[in-house]
Amino acid sequence: MKLTVAKTAGFCFGVDRAVKMVEALLSQGKKVCTMGPLIHNPTFIADLQKRGVLIVSEPEEVPPDSTLVIRTHGVAKDVREKIDALGCDVVDATCPFVRKIQQIVDTKTANGETALIAGDPAHPEVIGIRSYCHGLSYVCLNFEDFRQVIDNLPAICEKDIILVSQTTFSVSEYEKYINYVKLHCTKVEIFATICNATSNRQSEARALSLENDAMIIVGGRNSSNTRKLYEVCRANCPSYLVESAAELEPQWFTGCRNVGITAGASTPDSIIKEVRITMSENTVGVSAENLEKEAEQTAPAAEETGKTAEEMAFADALEESLKSMNSDQKVVGTVMSIQPNEIQVDIGRKQTGYIPIEEYSSDPNADPTKELKVGDEIHAIIMKTNDAEGTVMLSKRRYDASKYWDTVASAYETKEILEGKVTEILQKGVIVHYNGIRVFIPASQSSVPRSGNLETLKDQVVSFRIIDIDQRRRRAVGSIKSVTDERRAALAEQFWADAYVGKKLTGTVKNLTTFAAFVDLGGAEGMIHRSELSWRRIKHPSDVVNVGDTVEVTIKSLDPEKKKVSLSYRKIEDNPWEILKRDYPVGSIVDVKIVGLTDFGAFAQIFPGMDGLIHISQIADRRIAKPSDVLSIDDIVKVKITGIDFDKKRISLSIRALLEPQKEETQEASAPVEEDSKPVPIEEYAAAAADEEVAQDEE
Ligand code: SF4
Repeated sequence: MKLTVAKTAGFCFGVDRAVKMVEALLSQGKKVCTMGPLIHNPTFIADLQKRGVLIVSEPEEVPPDSTLVIRTHGVAKDVREKIDALGCDVVDATCPFVRKIQQIVDTKTANGETALIAGDPAHPEVIGIRSYCHGLSYVCLNFEDFRQVIDNLPAICEKDIILVSQTTFSVSEYEKYINYVKLHCTKVEIFATICNATSNRQSEARALSLENDAMIIVGGRNSSNTRKLYEVCRANCPSYLVESAAELEPQWFTGCRNVGITAGASTPDSIIKEVRITMSENTVGVSAENLEKEAEQTAPAAEETGKTAEEMAFADALEESLKSMNSDQKVVGTVMSIQPNEIQVDIGRKQTGYIPIEEYSSDPNADPTKELKVGDEIHAIIMKTNDAEGTVMLSKRRYDASKYWDTVASAYETKEILEGKVTEILQKGVIVHYNGIRVFIPASQSSVPRSGNLETLKDQVVSFRIIDIDQRRRRAVGSIKSVTDERRAALAEQFWADAYVGKKLTGTVKNLTTFAAFVDLGGAEGMIHRSELSWRRIKHPSDVVNVGDTVEVTIKSLDPEKKKVSLSYRKIEDNPWEILKRDYPVGSIVDVKIVGLTDFGAFAQIFPGMDGLIHISQIADRRIAKPSDVLSIDDIVKVKITGIDFDKKRISLSIRALLEPQKEETQEASAPVEEDSKPVPIEEYAAAAADEEVAQDEE
């Protein structure tokens, strides 16, 4: 017995696409649920369920952490609206051919036309299509129903009518509808909406059923297109619909010399193969072994490629179907839907256009779900036209590359500056994307110092020049450094032309050493010595500033010859002597902290950066041998400011003055030090204060 398997058997474009979407989600570790069974194949669905895929029938049933996949049939408009309102994470696998019918009825019936739909009113695809109709619509499962609608409602024939069909409707049956409506209605627009996958399968099934003694149709009993295949075949020979090999009955083939096998669009290859092998094992004349041998002989390339004979056969068929492709043609289309793995595009042809995600952009970080919206105009190049499936594969990536290569080539000649985003960090450089063109920037041309990290450029928009191109291979090499060096030179010229001592500038701290902070002033680098960072004594520049800080500085000195700039970060209003003059006049009573003790007195901090002296005679209202008999380091005591000498930078404080309040008089800022406090010689004061200071490092 000879077995012939239909070339069109197995997953159609839409089912294959939906299955791949679910597989991709599962491989990303996502939890997946589908709105109804993904395809009409119980074996396949059971396998998906084992892998954790949940089937829900209402949007409310979608678990919060799951991604909902809308299957090829699509869903009704109100269901889609509910899904969106609930904020579900959605992947829409509605077959583009189904989506197209939804859009036809939506647009046409919005203009007042009445929709006649050839199909099963209970089928989810038809329920979905009908939900997009505005006003009147009629669904007819068989020709008799259709004839009655036309005959009983003559008013319909006076209206503008559109006729569409379910994608899997019988081709011959639809022809009857078309002929009848043409005969009775004058203002009718007819749409050929049976998908190629369906019509091709039915044609091949019809041809096989005429040539063979029996036909086996493999697929789910609840699959519309599988049932149609069964109807087509049984008109010509004994035909049997099976969901799996286990349902095959040997007696069906008694006396048969030739048996054909076909399968619905949602039947996995593995089930078709199982049926074929089981039939060969249980019938005389052909064994599974022979079939495998046959396959090996007809597919010698399989071993070379590492693919199975079936995969090779499929690849051959695909290649064959692509021979009619009209590639490299530029088209402009409208975005119909955007999915994580593809963009559907209407290019004004019968075929459905789609851009696989890898053909969207050469930027690996590009995300069409964020960059595009439905209705946008999009330019692309046709890569493959698949007449068998009715699809056109498009590439925006190649369109962009072709369009912008001329700009890149001309920028090489003119040294024009281009702008692009750094998308990839390589070992020896980075890749900048310029309108779909990858430009390699060697590390030496990246503007990142040798000791730096190229990763700092990731995702940055940079300006660059093209420094080399390979026209034949369409490759370009660029330089960011060329642009930054040039800009820096221009800024330096500007800086030195405008700079003067006392000028205030804003810069960025680039580097710190123990004695200074170095600041990028945009065109020049300036140094802030540690002593110019703060009025207080500091141990390290990082006590005040850090690398990356934006600072406001004043030019202290300039050396245009040596290109040296000294800066000050100290602000006049922060000068402690200015604060003292403003907030602490002579006579003020303040709490101070004891910070140093000597034989002649105690040093006390009035506020950070400002110390005064309490002479030994001013510590108590009695004679004391030494200050440490009364005071300790860190003691907080109340004192009166009894004198300030701004020239000698000397402040006299007194505790005793507060112990004899009636005798004390408030003095003006210039008042002399009190008579009964022995004035401390300035040398002694300075020497004692110097002991307190931390010696500042010199460069
Ligand atoms: S049978 Fe046609 S319409 Fe249905 S999923 Fe397959 S390709 Fe799409």
